[in-house]
Amino acid sequence: MPPERPLDPMSDDPTSAWPAGEADADAPTAPPRPSGAPRIVEAQELVDAISGEPALRVISRLQRHGHEAYLVGGCVRDLLVGLTPKDFDVATSAHPRQVRRLFPRNSHIIGRRFRLVHIRYGHETIIETATFRSEPEGVREDDLLITEDNTYGTAEEDARRRDFTVNGLFLDPSSERILDWVGGLEDVEGGLLRTIGDPAVRIPEDPVRILRAIKFATRLGFRIEDATWQAMCDNSRELERSAPPRVLEEILRLVRSGTALGAFRKLRQCGALAVLLPELDEHLGPLEGASDADHKRADGFWRLLEALDTHVHDGYEPSTAVALALLHHDMAEREADPETRRGPGGPPEWQVVCGEVLEPLSGNARLSRRDTGRARRIIYQQRNFTRVAGRRFRPNLFCLAEEFPESLELFRLRCEARGEGWDLYKAWVERSESASDLGGDELEAEKRRARRGRRRPRRRKRSS
Ligand code: ATP
Ligand code: MG
Repeated sequence: MPPERPLDPMSDDPTSAWPAGEADADAPTAPPRPSGAPRIVEAQELVDAISGEPALRVISRLQRHGHEAYLVGGCVRDLLVGLTPKDFDVATSAHPRQVRRLFPRNSHIIGRRFRLVHIRYGHETIIETATFRSEPEGVREDDLLITEDNTYGTAEEDARRRDFTVNGLFLDPSSERILDWVGGLEDVEGGLLRTIGDPAVRIPEDPVRILRAIKFATRLGFRIEDATWQAMCDNSRELERSAPPRVLEEILRLVRSGTALGAFRKLRQCGALAVLLPELDEHLGPLEGASDADHKRADGFWRLLEALDTHVHDGYEPSTAVALALLHHDMAEREADPETRRGPGGPPEWQVVCGEVLEPLSGNARLSRRDTGRARRIIYQQRNFTRVAGRRFRPNLFCLAEEFPESLELFRLRCEARGEGWDLYKAWVERSESASDLGGDELEAEKRRARRGRRRPRRRKRSS
């Protein structure tokens, strides 16, 4: 079991999950073990902790029919560090059709190149069951030319094609043992995240692993091993080659992770932020030689992420639209100010600026129009919270707007980040509660007032 290590996302050492200085002392430096026999350890306690899980039934049935089958990946890692696994993945020697035949009523095959079997239990639980595969050399995840036949392999090959040592552990619930071909146990004990095999090969092979490394390191409070970190820095440009939707998905996961602050600092330090969200990276100023104004802006953004993390720890899950709005709000404010605007020309209307800042991401990340539209309106509506009520702005109607709850979520985070505006936030919460009690007649009256407020003033007739 790894010792408790507090995460220190504010640390200046990008590879450190601990306060600077302590990090290297006891970090194991041994490379992953060579091909051959796995290290085997007893794992009775872990298996006891998950008794009754449907994944165990899947494994037991596969094994009874003569196949090898294990729990693999994230669930084994999470159990070892004392976290509750999100889901349970199974790896087996059985081919997809053989698996399908063993679970005729509750399984179906998915995927084109890598065929997987989803075995369903009840409404919620799906056990993803994958046949052992070996990664043919030089093949990238998004290369569609390889057929499925030549990718099946042994359990050991399947362990070795995985990304990080701590993700390459196999748990056999029947013998209650963990099989480790990749040095993952040692790294879990040492709180170390490193690639399986040479990071200078494994990182460029699939640059999304840069984001995955950051996600796991911050989530687990693990240090990123030096050579792995170096490969991440050396290859951050390669993220340009990765499929934008896959990259965006990982960015959103980082935003929602509860360790967004540490994750985004690492993204920035390894150069990935400059590739993924260049406008945001620039907004935060240069890594070296930053001015006071740069520091202030960066600090504001880090505080926003810190506030978000606190709420995520309490169970808050920001929607995609809120996550996007949070990443772009400060830039919109900056672009709307003639003094600080970086875009061409003077600032256009606030509404236009809100669309402008989201443009780069919505263009190439293939974000849904719905999410971008919502994010734009959430940013736009931030100014409503400080707007004076009048004929042109009816607070009650604002409270009933579709995006109001999400806009209020972002406003709350902004108040917390700045350490001011809390009374205003509470006043809006109260108002929104009373607005939802408004009767039909009162609402109609509000709408009439708003319409009148929007009407253009009549031109005065010239008296000639
Ligand atoms: P999470 O708890 O976030 O789901 P996870 O470890 O289960 O973490 P998944 O993305 O669900 O991560 O992937 C399951 C497993 O598949 C990983 O643990 C890893 O072994 C393997 N894997 C996933 N993505 C990659 C990749 N890009 N390269 C190599 N192996 C990968
Ligand atoms: Mg998973």
